[in-house]
Amino acid sequence: MTLKYCQGPKCHTYHTQDRLKGTKPNKTYQTRRRSSFYYGNDNFCSMNCYNDWFNKYGDQAINHFGRVKEVKKLTEENAWQKTYDWNSNHDMFYVYRNGITKEQRPLTKAQYDDTNYTLNER
Ligand SMILES: [Zn+2]
Repeated sequence: MTLKYCQGPKCHTYHTQDRLKGTKPNKTYQTRRRSSFYYGNDNFCSMNCYNDWFNKYGDQAINHFGRVKEVKKLTEENAWQKTYDWNSNHDMFYVYRNGITKEQRPLTKAQYDDTNYTLNER
């Protein structure tokens, strides 16, 4: 199993026992290494490290990939969301609900589970 490093630029500066490696007089705090991480799409050991990365590189990343410079609009044609509810018999049922018009259309469980199935315009 390959271990990977936390991408937090300050990970090694946090004083925790698990980061402290080596023996006297060569002890150092080190970047965490794990087979997987919980945060930031498996890249960061903690929310702190995730935030540290964003505080240091976030503006550059946004400018690189494209800063939002005008309002985005979700129209009626693309406002369908899958959801579920229970009827008076306590049976679960699935529907597509339009967040703008509030229209509801029935869905089968298979359609609900099918991530490619959509009423939204592509
Ligand atoms: Zn970290």
